[in-house]
Amino acid sequence: MKHFVVISLLMLLQMAGGMAQNELCNKKGTFLLDETTIPILDHAYMNGRAGVCRWDYNKRAAVVLTFDDWTPGQFPLVVPTLKRFGMVATFFPIPNNILSSDLAWDAVKTTVKNGNEIGNHSWSHPDMTKISNSDLREEIFKPQNMVETNVPNVKSISFAYPYGTFNQQVIDSLRAIGYVGARGVWRISNYSYNFAENEDDYYNIRIFGMNEQTKNSTYFSEVENVIEGGGLLTFLYHSVDDDLNSYKDSWYAQVKLDSLKEQLRFLKQNEDKLWVTTFGNAVLYHREANCVKTSVSEKSDCIIVDLTIDDSDVLQLVPQPQYVPLTVMLYTERKVKRVVQNGVTIPIDAQTCCWIRFRAVPNGGEVTVECE
Ligand SMILES: [Zn+2]
Repeated sequence: MKHFVVISLLMLLQMAGGMAQNELCNKKGTFLLDETTIPILDHAYMNGRAGVCRWDYNKRAAVVLTFDDWTPGQFPLVVPTLKRFGMVATFFPIPNNILSSDLAWDAVKTTVKNGNEIGNHSWSHPDMTKISNSDLREEIFKPQNMVETNVPNVKSISFAYPYGTFNQQVIDSLRAIGYVGARGVWRISNYSYNFAENEDDYYNIRIFGMNEQTKNSTYFSEVENVIEGGGLLTFLYHSVDDDLNSYKDSWYAQVKLDSLKEQLRFLKQNEDKLWVTTFGNAVLYHREANCVKTSVSEKSDCIIVDLTIDDSDVLQLVPQPQYVPLTVMLYTERKVKRVVQNGVTIPIDAQTCCWIRFRAVPNGGEVTVECE
């Protein structure tokens, strides 16, 4: 009880002062509720005016679907199914499985064109902890170069460890090359927003593994866990095939297409609460939201909002990532005409009498909120 009083008092002081600026990047926050009960990151809160949402579009939690190895059913079955549901996923191919397919690069290009991510799953699928340092770099660089050469405008920022094995040296190599996060195969246990206690945790993202035995009820309760916790839930799939096994996809842990559809349907039913996105987007958003500083200045005809991530921030350990936009809520009672960043009008995706919501890129130029 005593603790509760102290915490409440601290929160009140923060709100009254309106200066809960993040001194420490990666400082973890709690929900602050405004009068419309919309949760905002308290540590991205400054001048009591602009808040950065925990997840994009102010969703409560993030769900990521990952498909490993580029097994035979993934392109013909999973890619069109995702498209039909208006969802995206991350594929971690074994390069040889792309090269040996008749469709080869056309299939990968289509996958990317639909908004999916092609991550890096190494070149030859080795145990990354049992190879030399030079081999380690080659295992990372070779598939990256191959994908970036064959698919225009693609940049590799996500890695999945073959067999889920890694050590500090592997993490440090990935970070130095520019990967923002990596996925293992350990089962998720922390569904909260604070799943990354330290920076290395972004290179040990845990999962829920799917296979033929996974009941949909289990899947649904996993999703409910993350909605409750507000964190990131990453599903790991391998083989997918239809009832007739048309693609002979029995590579590993086959999931039937009908089950996958049921799972996607459940995500769709909860889309007001869930941001279903790629692995790279989810990790990068979380890193940015934990590091960004916001500032707001009032002018006679506009409000200027700055979203900056500075050099001392954790994110800078990764060489120059291309930032993903953050969802910003600006509290104002002024009548807003439009929002502009870098000369480009950005859509206002929600608005009430007292606040507007839009997406802007940190370090992407100041945001001008033009007012009447
Ligand atoms: Zn694999």
